[in-house]
Amino acid sequence: MIEWKAVDSFRWNSSDPKATVMRACPVCSRPASREAVSFPGFQYFTDDARLSKRIHIRDVVCDACHAVYRNPVLTDDGFRVLAAEAGCSYGASAGRSMETLGWLED
Ligand SMILES: [Zn+2]
Repeated sequence: MIEWKAVDSFRWNSSDPKATVMRACPVCSRPASREAVSFPGFQYFTDDARLSKRIHIRDVVCDACHAVYRNPVLTDDGFRVLAAEAGCSYGASAGRSMETLGWLED
């Protein structure tokens, strides 16, 4: 069971630089881009004093080919921490796994 708390329930809430990495355009491999949308300090799910769940979400437009892509992106460590609670956010409840599988098969 996840204990819900208000965001910033402790003073030192911050981002972990190991959670994300910058990248070149995934279409043309050029590094130059312009920011389109940005959510600095966006927090995933619940506060946790042991694990940072904040990242800078930022979508950019490639200067060369105009592809829109997320930059930075999650590292394996970032994905492991930030997605750990994702399965709990869709109303999953104990004892309903077969009902869910049946729905998916339909
Ligand atoms: Zn590009």
